[in-house]
Amino acid sequence: MAMLELDSQVQYVKGIGPARAEALAGKGIATLEDLLYYLPFRYEDRSNPRRIADLRPGEMATLIAEVRTSILLRTRKMPIFEMTVGEVGDKTPPAFGKPRASIKCLWFNATYLKDRFHPGDVLALYGKVEEAKRGHGLQIMQPQIEVLQEAGEENNDPKESLETGKIVPIYEAIGKMTSRWFRRAVRTGLEVLNPEVSEVIPTAVRDRNFLIGRKEAFWKVHWPDPDEPMGKLQAWRSSAHIRLIFEELYFLQLGLELKRRSMRAQKGIEFKLDDKVREAIKRILPFHPTSAQKHVLREIAQDMGGPLPMRRLLQGDVGSGKTIVAFQAAIIAIENGYQVALMAPTEILASQHYLNARQVLEKAGYRIVLLTGSLEQDRKRAVRRHIARGDAQLVIGTHALIQETVEFDKLGLVIVDEQHRFGVMQRLKLMKKKDSDLGEPDVLVMTATPIPRTLALTLYGELDVSVIDELPPGRSPIVTRRVSDERAGEVFDFVRKQVKAGHQAYVVYPVIEESEEMSLKPAVKMWDELRKRILPDLRIGLLHGRMAADDKEAVMQRFKRGEIDVLVSTTVIEVGVDVPNATVMVIEHAERFGLSQLHQLRGRIGRGAAKSYCILMTTGEVSEVGNQRLETMVRTQDGFEIAEMDLQLRGPGEFFGTKQAGMPSFRVANLLRDREILEAAKKEAQWTLSGSKEVSANEVSRALVHLRTNWQRRYGLVEVG
Ligand code: ADP
Ligand code: MG
Repeated sequence: MAMLELDSQVQYVKGIGPARAEALAGKGIATLEDLLYYLPFRYEDRSNPRRIADLRPGEMATLIAEVRTSILLRTRKMPIFEMTVGEVGDKTPPAFGKPRASIKCLWFNATYLKDRFHPGDVLALYGKVEEAKRGHGLQIMQPQIEVLQEAGEENNDPKESLETGKIVPIYEAIGKMTSRWFRRAVRTGLEVLNPEVSEVIPTAVRDRNFLIGRKEAFWKVHWPDPDEPMGKLQAWRSSAHIRLIFEELYFLQLGLELKRRSMRAQKGIEFKLDDKVREAIKRILPFHPTSAQKHVLREIAQDMGGPLPMRRLLQGDVGSGKTIVAFQAAIIAIENGYQVALMAPTEILASQHYLNARQVLEKAGYRIVLLTGSLEQDRKRAVRRHIARGDAQLVIGTHALIQETVEFDKLGLVIVDEQHRFGVMQRLKLMKKKDSDLGEPDVLVMTATPIPRTLALTLYGELDVSVIDELPPGRSPIVTRRVSDERAGEVFDFVRKQVKAGHQAYVVYPVIEESEEMSLKPAVKMWDELRKRILPDLRIGLLHGRMAADDKEAVMQRFKRGEIDVLVSTTVIEVGVDVPNATVMVIEHAERFGLSQLHQLRGRIGRGAAKSYCILMTTGEVSEVGNQRLETMVRTQDGFEIAEMDLQLRGPGEFFGTKQAGMPSFRVANLLRDREILEAAKKEAQWTLSGSKEVSANEVSRALVHLRTNWQRRYGLVEVG
């Protein structure tokens, strides 16, 4: 038999013709390796099939049995398919002596099973054994079923049965390709796989983590040893599973580690941190920083002072006070004679940062400009000139900063107020610098979305992470309640009471349709309702994404100054808006928002000393997942807890909405399940590249070649050198 390599096309595997190969390709199975990665979704222990006579009610059992009779019963409620099976080859005539052992199997609504089975067919059945209703022996409801041999069929499996006598893999069928078909195809694939298939994980790493070999793992994940505990197999914790999961995560981390290293291999700027700079940093502080803020500033300052470019992620829940830390970092750069760019995801946020920066920094004499897409051409040109000449020290803007060519005189630090905006890093290269001899600017990415650690390790594996895990003092917890919109009247009475007590409120509408435009109508309508009918005595404002930037800005300013009592808004207020006097947030259609969005929204209130209230208003029936989201919001305010819950409810793939968000899709790994393996893989990847003598140069280069040919594209690690 000719040997195949992992990258051989599947159609060269005996039994897989061009038609099947095409169907497989449609499911992403193109090569032998892809086929071997088509893992069983569960296993059946058919090594010691039970005798029917020994079955007990309540147990999960695998049974190899022969069809005696089958019939489709049409009851009044629904069709039921009923089949009686007995021991294979039991020829005891029914009329004599002991009755033959048999058990009944029932399937509801299973018209499709009619005529599928014939007396004498041999089946594998898997399900829960129960006492039959009318007291006649035992039955299995809706067992998993597989035909092993049709009546009268030659035993097609003469050499060694792939169906019985062992732990058997169960695959998800693809079209006509059944689990049984896959068993054969994968088995043949394993048999023709070149035995020289190379090990890609260095020996020292394998030894330390008790990992079995690569080829052995491929075999055993499909055909486990007879003594492999079933529990471990089903939980993807057999030695074979662990090896394959580790391999995938190890190469991901190796790629990230390389990226990290290559980013840091560039020449950075060594900012000086003398007393003058320290003094300048302290001078601007309007309050005592929390110890968390002090701690992360130290981490940032240390990076900035070092010879390598900083690549740091600053994580902190909404309201944790990231802005002031960012400003302090900016001062370090400015005091060293460099310029700073601060990029925000929306115009509202950019102008808010701008106002904030002017308040905090301008009185210390720093020169700040705002550059957004909606500026007039003339003004824009003037601002650009300002930046190019080096007059502007802190440049605050939106994506206009990187989308349009902005030339800096001496860019030293880029702060990205991020909102899952990946790709910013790549595009930073577009930011032109006059003098290419200057070191690479430092980069600080800020995120208000607490990211579960496993995801942070994966998504931001190439960044160092600082966390502000403490809120500024003087916040009182937010009271969160969910109510049906049938009680909207009471809710708005409450809003009125809060306003009369001197506070302000938000009323938020979800982006119900895909586009902001579509969700506009209900928001505008509600605004009209509120000011004409429901709260005519209050001053109601409206804010939505379709408004011109100036108008938005004007509304925000009026709200900030307290000239608007209730701000009706679509989700444009989500991030960064800071009006401490606002103590009430009513979220309409709360059931439609994602958890992290709800959390971000709620972060707009509870910013002052007064008690705040978040009212999650729902319309109609709420789904199970919707209920869990709302309950989570009511239960906790901890961003990390909410993020973990979000991850669990949505699954890692969707956590960030889209693939473009940078989440790799895994073959075997699952970030929820495999957190510990991920941590281990990360450590080992770092160690592998650290130049230890325990890893030969040969092993490292083999791993790197493997990374380049196999994982790079898969994970989007395009830049790996
Ligand atoms: P984030 O950007 O992390 O969501 P902000 O930087 O907007 O949070 O800070 C939220 C609010 O808390 C702001 O009004 C800010 O002035 C205030 N604040 C930040 N740090 C402190 C502190 N150490 N003491 C008191 N107030 C603080
Ligand atoms: Mg530096």
